[in-house]
Amino acid sequence: MSKFHSTISRREFMKGIGLAGAGLGAAAVVAPNFHDLDEVTSSSAQFKHPWYVKEREYDDPTLEIDWNVFERVDRTRKVLGSRFPLTATNGTHATLHPEIAKYRAMKQEENRDIEYMKEKFPSYQGPSLRDYSLTGASGASRKLPSPNYIGEMDGVNIPSPADRGLAKWQGTPEENLQTITNAFKFFGATRVRVMELTDKGKKLVYKNSTGGKPYNFKDADQPEETDSEYVIPNTARYLINYACLEATDHVRQAPAPTYSGYCHGNKVRNNVHYFLGSMGFMHIEAGGFTPAAGVGAFAGTTEHSRSAMLGTSYSHGNLFRWMGRIITDMPLTPTKPIDAGIARFCIDCMTCAHSCPYESMPLGEQRWDHENPEEEAIQNYIPGFKGWRLFNFRCPRCKNCHGACVFNGGNEAIIHNIVRTTQAITPIFNGFFADMETAFGYGTRNPDDWWQREVPTFQFDPTYLY
Ligand code: SF4
Ligand code: SF4
Repeated sequence: MSKFHSTISRREFMKGIGLAGAGLGAAAVVAPNFHDLDEVTSSSAQFKHPWYVKEREYDDPTLEIDWNVFERVDRTRKVLGSRFPLTATNGTHATLHPEIAKYRAMKQEENRDIEYMKEKFPSYQGPSLRDYSLTGASGASRKLPSPNYIGEMDGVNIPSPADRGLAKWQGTPEENLQTITNAFKFFGATRVRVMELTDKGKKLVYKNSTGGKPYNFKDADQPEETDSEYVIPNTARYLINYACLEATDHVRQAPAPTYSGYCHGNKVRNNVHYFLGSMGFMHIEAGGFTPAAGVGAFAGTTEHSRSAMLGTSYSHGNLFRWMGRIITDMPLTPTKPIDAGIARFCIDCMTCAHSCPYESMPLGEQRWDHENPEEEAIQNYIPGFKGWRLFNFRCPRCKNCHGACVFNGGNEAIIHNIVRTTQAITPIFNGFFADMETAFGYGTRNPDDWWQREVPTFQFDPTYLY
């Protein structure tokens, strides 16, 4: 039974937003949403979206793309997504860009994220020994062997089907999608989606590494890394996106972060490599040469949003910390891009951007170029789409924007369902919902409070685990 119906009536809601007296007009626009809230909260099937989420055509996410301009990224000339990138303006990636050096120094010297929290919560004095200990401890189990390009891991033997005396796994694309979904969720992924490497989809695969070695699609039996190239067999047509959560409770206290999302993602990454290899399929580690947010939007894991670092999920907001990417030849049914109205909502909602201590998030509308003049000056972004772009030079990954999104909340946070269902139909209440951050607690919490709270086992609020 929907918790919504037992806790708040439509009349109470309309009264709350000042529309109790409204008959037709604005109130009527909202009215169709309410009869479906039960469906929203009872829907838990992996591939069944709530009614307000529309599936789009393949290779057509909710942002405008100029396919004549959108091309594979030359990584020797761009420093996308790298936390401490080296410049590539001269094509050698050998010199630290002065703007990056400037903002790195700012991070180290100013601790803006901590100052931000002190200002917001006057009793907060900054991280204590137990905060530092928690952060350090959460990274202590991050030392698993990383898979190389073809997915091999030091010290881990992945037996082939023949090693077990069995034939390679056979399944229809639909069955295989269900198989990897259940397996990957068992390992700890929350969402498993797939995009096909069509001619358009291949444009999300970077042209080369930062060192200049090309990623080449070829008629080859197996993937390989040589001295001069990375080979992607043309039969490896599917790019799996498996999304893992950040510590859902603790991230609300950021900036005072742990890096547990990466720790968790590292573990899942090794599990999925083993699984696909053991089933007899290719498992190319693609996290280093594909864009997380782009793949998320094409595969339907997330929508492109103002929070351009990862994208935003209608069900999990900005809480996917790890957007794993792996290329395989396992036949899979691709999943479709989605439209839950998030990008439309972001136009008016700037909650995450206003929560950014480093002024690293765009405050304007979607655009073809970069809102940050420093990155526009050296063209440090993927051109060819109209959207929002992270101020990559400035962002030290403090995580404040992750905890602040109004789409965070899990199934039990009913107000988030109201936001989701209403904005998918009409944008007229967007400003109102965005302003409810304080009333409904979307935003950050005093880091000290976490130590007094009853916290969920293993970092995840159970309402997110579906
Ligand atoms: S964009 Fe997000 S992670 Fe980066 S500095 Fe701003 S709030 Fe922190
Ligand atoms: S906080 Fe608001 S602007 Fe930011 S990603 Fe979420 S919905 Fe969009």
